Amino acid sequence: MTNDGKRRLTMADIIKNYINGKWKTGHGAGTFRSINPANKTNIVGLATRSSAADVDEAVDAAREAFKEWRLMPAPRRGEVLLRAAEILSRGKKSLGMLVTQEMGKILPEGLGDVQEAIDMAYYMGSEGRRLSGETVPSELPGKDAKSVRVPVGVFALITPWNFPVAIPAWKICPALVAGNTVIFKPSSDTPVCAARLVGMLEQAGVPKGVINLVHGAGKETGEYLATHPGIDAVSFTGSCDTGEHLEGLCGRTHKPISAEMGGKNAIIVMDDANLELAVEGAIWGGFGTSGQRCTAASRIVVHEAVYLKFIKMFKGAASKLRIGNGLKKGTDMGPVINESQFTKILEYIETGKNEGAGLILGGGPYTKNDCANGFFIEPTIFTDVDPEMRIAQEEIFGPVVCVIKSGSFEDSIRIVNDTRYGLSSSIYTQDVNKSALAERDLDSGIVYINASTIGAEIQLPFGGTKHTGLGPREAGGRGGALDTYTRWKVIYRDFSGRLQKAQIDR
Ligand code: ADP
Repeated sequence: MTNDGKRRLTMADIIKNYINGKWKTGHGAGTFRSINPANKTNIVGLATRSSAADVDEAVDAAREAFKEWRLMPAPRRGEVLLRAAEILSRGKKSLGMLVTQEMGKILPEGLGDVQEAIDMAYYMGSEGRRLSGETVPSELPGKDAKSVRVPVGVFALITPWNFPVAIPAWKICPALVAGNTVIFKPSSDTPVCAARLVGMLEQAGVPKGVINLVHGAGKETGEYLATHPGIDAVSFTGSCDTGEHLEGLCGRTHKPISAEMGGKNAIIVMDDANLELAVEGAIWGGFGTSGQRCTAASRIVVHEAVYLKFIKMFKGAASKLRIGNGLKKGTDMGPVINESQFTKILEYIETGKNEGAGLILGGGPYTKNDCANGFFIEPTIFTDVDPEMRIAQEEIFGPVVCVIKSGSFEDSIRIVNDTRYGLSSSIYTQDVNKSALAERDLDSGIVYINASTIGAEIQLPFGGTKHTGLGPREAGGRGGALDTYTRWKVIYRDFSGRLQKAQIDR
């Protein structure tokens, strides 16, 4: 639904909650607007605001549905996700366009956001036929021993706006295939994408109560949901402040939480790097999604021997980026999400200037080419950044890149590791030994060799070290999301017909 200026939004257009298989408006708490960040006069949707009673109802529905859903054979739960993958594939284009409208990323990235959800639905759908545990021999005769994965129960899923389809799918798909039921609280910046995704899952045959959607603000709806006594566990992706706050609340109530939070990711460019490739990687990592990815490359650590050459090439490439509405063909970079991020990023740019970093490109709002009504910020590059500066330590989450000079390989590794985060890092070098040492010594959950800091694939775990995250990682593979959404249960079966004592009968 869009407000094209000709049509007023009506009650029928309100983006509703989805509770126990029904689309409902909240209990009298009003609505909030989702606006297009490329043009703030364009309202993408009006979403219902949830009250505590709505969350209570959603939790009750999920608790009730859990009783049957956990008993449905996992391959059949998986089939529902496989159907969802097909529906998402058919709807990819229109959902991708909606992502661009509501969140601002350029259309190829909007389509990529949906593709990630499709990949995850196929991957987790097929997990329905694996979900494997272990069978091991018992030390006693007439006895067997195995471990099985069991669902945790009812999950609160709290998601951000930067991947409005992919991140919810990253949580919903593994949760559901493992037999959990969920209450999904999307970011209040992207309720329309969330509702469209849930609608597709409904169409795929997810039974009532298994997935519930509640809209609302983080502090009210999100916190009430996460701390609700009917919630067994929480999966959160968002800012470090909110995540750490929720970790504290969950710790006190003994609720497991998986939290994916910030990053201050860096690319190392060595003196032997293929500089053309490194510049492309720095542009994609630094300015892709307007720098609003948790894996964005916000620091480029460049060897002094190629420092000046790299800066010249990097600035040249960044100044060619075409900024505008992401739906327009040929656009390279869209707006940032909302007014508060817009202001925060501009404040960081001021901080960088005050700290004495060299501003060589951008540094302000971008208002040309029909961009005056949106939250556009110029691609911004700071050079001669000291690794201790705030702009080199704090997550900016915008199109601002810090270039740091380094004297050696060891220096570069130290600079990259010296932040409170550890999500993604990368090195450009032709030296096989240096790449191996970087693999070993970079302290981050993901390391790229001769590639940018973004581009994770869904079949391996996603997440990081230090303040980046807590709990098992997201996505697939060993140590991935299934460790969040299942608990291990160990079963010993004695068919000897007599009392046998482990460790004692020898
Ligand atoms: P961002 O706005 O950058 O996405 P936030 O951490 O503020 O980062 O928000 C991520 C998600 O967490 C959103 O869905 C938001 O509504 C929710 N949220 C924010 N504050 C809280 C809170 N105190 N308790 C629970 N959820 C919250």
